[in-house]
Amino acid sequence: MRFSREEIVWQEVPGEVSLAFTISGCPLACRGCHSADTWAPGQGSLLSPAYLQQRLQQYRGLITCVLFMGGEWQPDLLSARLQQVREAGLQTCLYTGLEDVSPALKPLLTYLKTGPWQAELGGLDSPNTNQRFVDLRTNQCLNHHFQ
Ligand code: SF4
Repeated sequence: MRFSREEIVWQEVPGEVSLAFTISGCPLACRGCHSADTWAPGQGSLLSPAYLQQRLQQYRGLITCVLFMGGEWQPDLLSARLQQVREAGLQTCLYTGLEDVSPALKPLLTYLKTGPWQAELGGLDSPNTNQRFVDLRTNQCLNHHFQ
């Protein structure tokens, strides 16, 4: 599993300070994707267990969540990284362009954003969006936090 971008974000997961990894190799090819530069699977840096552990230690006390922008196309590797984050006591979030993800992933996720990018409907900040941001602990839709 490789990532093309790594950043600290405040708005992508409501109420959380998140370390966000944009995973390389999204196969969905949504028209108008803002991250088309990350589609090549071999690009970017390796998100190894050791690398993630080093980041979790570095940001200890400063972040509350780790956000994976994609990666569900490598479910075993994503599960292992999510488990690692949970063991560090942090929340987890996945942004996927799919309508749903494997049931095996959900117990490892605190939050899940689903739905492909459709420019005419807009993203989570649009009242017409097809996308949903859900707190999986309560199954509550949190889209209103983005609007
Ligand atoms: S799911 Fe996201 S990253 Fe993947 S092609 Fe669609 S908009 Fe781009």
